Amino acid sequence: MDKHETRPGQARKRGLSTACVHAGNPVDPSTGALVTPVFQSSTFAFKDPQHVVDVISGKREGNVYTRHGNPTVRAVEAKVSDLEGAADSLAFSSGMAAISTVLLALVRSGENVVAMESLYGGTFELFRDVFPRMGISVTLADGTDAEAVERAFRPETRVLYLESPANPTMRVVDIRRLSELARARGVLTIVDSTFATPVNQHPLALGADVVVHSGTKYLAGHSDVVAGTVSASAELTDAVRGFRKILGGVMDPHAAWLLLRGLKTLSVRVERQNRSAMELATFLKGHFAVEHVHYPGLADHPDHKIAEAQMSGFGGMLSFEVKGGFNGASGFASSLRVAALAPSLGGVETLVTLPVTTSHYWLSPAERAKAGISDALVRVSVGLEDVEDLIQDFEAALAGIV
Ligand code: PLP
Repeated sequence: MDKHETRPGQARKRGLSTACVHAGNPVDPSTGALVTPVFQSSTFAFKDPQHVVDVISGKREGNVYTRHGNPTVRAVEAKVSDLEGAADSLAFSSGMAAISTVLLALVRSGENVVAMESLYGGTFELFRDVFPRMGISVTLADGTDAEAVERAFRPETRVLYLESPANPTMRVVDIRRLSELARARGVLTIVDSTFATPVNQHPLALGADVVVHSGTKYLAGHSDVVAGTVSASAELTDAVRGFRKILGGVMDPHAAWLLLRGLKTLSVRVERQNRSAMELATFLKGHFAVEHVHYPGLADHPDHKIAEAQMSGFGGMLSFEVKGGFNGASGFASSLRVAALAPSLGGVETLVTLPVTTSHYWLSPAERAKAGISDALVRVSVGLEDVEDLIQDFEAALAGIV
């Protein structure tokens, strides 16, 4: 038994912070190493050919080739499974590798995906540009309207794809309700929970079948690795594992090691980011140069009630529209001194982007309008700086645009 697992008969299940530190990476009994090593090896040696066959066929435990699996990668998969409350997880070379591989494993030509309109730009491009070429149709629906989602289902729908909170609109969808509607039709629900993290939200406990993350973001947390994860039942992860092996988007062992290290501090980082984002959102809401603030923790956010019910924290992401359209947003972003103007999110540094210039650049103006993304929208990933310094920085940058 892992020394840190809950003892048999122990009443209290261990907490999430303990799991962040210990799950998946027990002390190595042979060396006493406290930290899981990087098994930076592409291949593994065998006694004889029968040994290879036994491991490849699953008769014996072991490692064959790092595209199939690797001990460091498996350690991070075990930690993510524990944090998500999943039977198993798979680690990928990026969030998009995770998303595309799980979808290709679960959906066939002639079948349909129902997806919400407000999505990360890369996922939107996968649905718009890649899947139709493969005979997979995608129907977009307003994820905040359960009836609209229900109307979108067709007999050939296989997957309902959700992202909550959504990038960059910060809309929150009712995962429990939508998963129930999907399950009643034999449709699998996949939730991209990147913005929420397992500290704030557990999609599988809410009824979803699969949870995906861009591990590049909060899970790793230090803007130094590109990674993705898929968590689900053993039956579903077995199906996805086969596709990962063939499509090849597996996580590199060094990336897995960085992700393992980042995950150890996930809960403290996210708890602080939750608090700072709330303070920054409240400051922005009271500023005359700001038109709308999108943060699910604010009482007037359209999905505040559902966010309160299904999340244990509102997250470190927010977005807002400034006065003066694109020029206003651009002037603001260029004047920041503490926050950096950079794509990505979830790291220790506060990052600001204008989604029209980055994550949603490849959408047409009509597609952006439908997804709720205006030219004046600024997305903020709140880091670990002192929130007073962030407020001062934002105040100075906003003063420059009015
Ligand atoms: N999902 C969300 C919500 C994202 O914001 C991103 C990237 O920004 C991705 C998925 C894709 O992740 P990656 O860049 O690791 O491929």
